[in-house]
Amino acid sequence: MRRFRRAKIVATVGPASADPATLRALLLAGVDTFRLNFSHGTHDDHARVHAAIRALEAEVGSSIGILQDLQGPKIRVGTLAGGAVQVEAGEAIRFVRTGADGDAMSIPLPHPEIFDAVLPGHELLIDDGRVKVRVTGLTGDSIDAEVVLGGTISNRKGVNLPGTILDVSPLTPKDRADVAFGLELGVDWVALSFVQKATDVIEARRLVGDRAGLIAKIEKPSALDSIDDILRLADGVMVARGDLGVEIPHELVPGRQKEIVRACRQAAKPVIVATQMLDSMVGAPTPTRAEASDVATAIYDGADAVMLSAESATGRYPVETVAMMDRIIRATEAHKLYRSIVQASQPGTEETPPHAVAAAAADLAESIGAPAIVAFTSSGTTATRIARKRPPLPILAITPSRETARRMSLLWGVHASLAGDVGSYEEMVERGMSVASLEGFAQPADFIVIVAGIPFGRAGTTNNLRVAQISDKREV
Ligand code: PGA
Ligand code: MN
Repeated sequence: MRRFRRAKIVATVGPASADPATLRALLLAGVDTFRLNFSHGTHDDHARVHAAIRALEAEVGSSIGILQDLQGPKIRVGTLAGGAVQVEAGEAIRFVRTGADGDAMSIPLPHPEIFDAVLPGHELLIDDGRVKVRVTGLTGDSIDAEVVLGGTISNRKGVNLPGTILDVSPLTPKDRADVAFGLELGVDWVALSFVQKATDVIEARRLVGDRAGLIAKIEKPSALDSIDDILRLADGVMVARGDLGVEIPHELVPGRQKEIVRACRQAAKPVIVATQMLDSMVGAPTPTRAEASDVATAIYDGADAVMLSAESATGRYPVETVAMMDRIIRATEAHKLYRSIVQASQPGTEETPPHAVAAAAADLAESIGAPAIVAFTSSGTTATRIARKRPPLPILAITPSRETARRMSLLWGVHASLAGDVGSYEEMVERGMSVASLEGFAQPADFIVIVAGIPFGRAGTTNNLRVAQISDKREV
């Protein structure tokens, strides 16, 4: 299945989209990677969705990415009587350690570490900051607070404590069990929530190894402080604007987004811009103009992927939202200013030979008018290095690894194609030409650029460039 755009779409699966027919419609509308949100749903739910996606993959014959998003040490309220309580500014409320079906004077907050660390004056921001309360007093088992910003507190809504330092590991016992389960299922990416420092990524790597790509979600101010180290250790990054926009002021989020995207392009690591991109489509068939502009901004920044959360997980118009996102991306990439804007934020030159070869491939392909760059890649790094240059032509990445093909569904401009190992250089050239023709990337007589690491199968090498002319069948 060929897409006619460069940036990818990640869509979260939830009750509005978990059935096979909707998953199929989402895929056809443009989803490249499905996100399983382990903050919600049971293992059985996720296993069913995973199986449905893999069945779909077999049906359409192209690789689909599956991203497991871990809950992380996310603080959430427990369950409330009737599902929600309404609170008003000035009202006194109380949080308790445990209990179910609470009311405004017994809101369950099942996180003992908060009761150990919170102090009077600290603020709790609930549901992405829609409700704000200030701590007024503490007993061992309860936190008294006054409502600063009123609203609805409903079941399992997130709580941020920007001013409280919590002593938590980035992987809770639930996350550890979820990772084991996800890797067993065969997810392609594992996303780590609330990363605070580089060692958090190291801790996660111990569990994940190379069985999946590791994405660091940037949603804490402390992660911004060590973004370079985090980037070095992770395989990709998510600009998790939901929590980030609660932990830092709204007005600083756009600039931070640009910084993170640029740092990822420099490091040749894929970056996803996430959260509230088309949020009003949760309940309406069209987005706001501001939302359309937000998606376009991420595309102009050169993000690898843009993500839908509630829009596709619980919204009324999941398929329409994906179709809308697809249209916005394609229109943006087709705009006459796109190229110059993306190039203006081109990363600085990278001196290592593999990066230089990848960059040369992109330049060469453009100057000879090649319709595509063909990359032979076992781990996906060669494709990533070419994608880093954001070349104005498709990158056809040929790999013998199903896992690599699936992971590449997150990479900017990359179309993955599975093909068996090639034994020789000549076979590689033949294979590159035949796959490019068969998949519709090149016509007879076209020149294509083939990039590879030689010897084959050694991950990480990118050292060879070849220009090949697709044989003109009319002459045969
Ligand atoms: P979440 O992550 O939806 O898992 O919280 C994304 C974000 O915080 O933006
Ligand atoms: Mn988050």
